[in-house]
Amino acid sequence: MIKAIIFDLDDTLYPELEYVKSGFRAIAGRLAGSEGDADEVYEMLWAAFEEGPRDRVFNRVLRRLGQEDDRQVIAELVGQYRCHRPCLRLDDGVRELLERLRGRYKLGLISDGYMPGQRLKVEALGLEGFFDRIIYTEELGRAYWKPATRAFELMAEALGVEPGECVYVADNPAKDFAGPNGLGWQTVQVKRADGVHDGRVEDLAEGYAAKIVVEDLGELEGVLA
Ligand SMILES: [Mg+2]
Repeated sequence: MIKAIIFDLDDTLYPELEYVKSGFRAIAGRLAGSEGDADEVYEMLWAAFEEGPRDRVFNRVLRRLGQEDDRQVIAELVGQYRCHRPCLRLDDGVRELLERLRGRYKLGLISDGYMPGQRLKVEALGLEGFFDRIIYTEELGRAYWKPATRAFELMAEALGVEPGECVYVADNPAKDFAGPNGLGWQTVQVKRADGVHDGRVEDLAEGYAAKIVVEDLGELEGVLA
């Protein structure tokens, strides 16, 4: 019987593309400078991201703007991106789901990703109050990012539940489910058409696929019942 539901953050509880857009808005003003047009630079950043590859977007846009793209400039921009206070809004359906689940299960959040970016996302979405425990794997150390199992072990311990009583709900089979599967948790993949990771399950190593796949978070209560 499931007693605890643990969620992933990006592309599970909100669309990560909204964070990318918010970060580009934060950077655009700086790149445009006092003379330039921040909206135009934002459009350049978004176009560079969409056309791909999705790394080195800042380098490409800086060169297109005729600016230096040396390491220090890039490091500053990446720092500004990760430290910006994102403009994000929790979807009403997700909020209502969490409110319902909170009364019936222990709830947790396990998120990979750079700090303080992950914490700032949680704050912007107003998520802290829903969870009995939040674990940012980056705070445990880079070796503990998913698919490592440590965060999942710590979570079950903190919530006082057995592995067989836990479910992890996430979007990315490349890293999200191997850890909890190995510990005997239930796992649910939420597919997102607009996800930053495509969520494909071909060519996955054994144990990496979620045990249950749903098309939408709204189906979660049905599969747990
Ligand atoms: Mg995710």
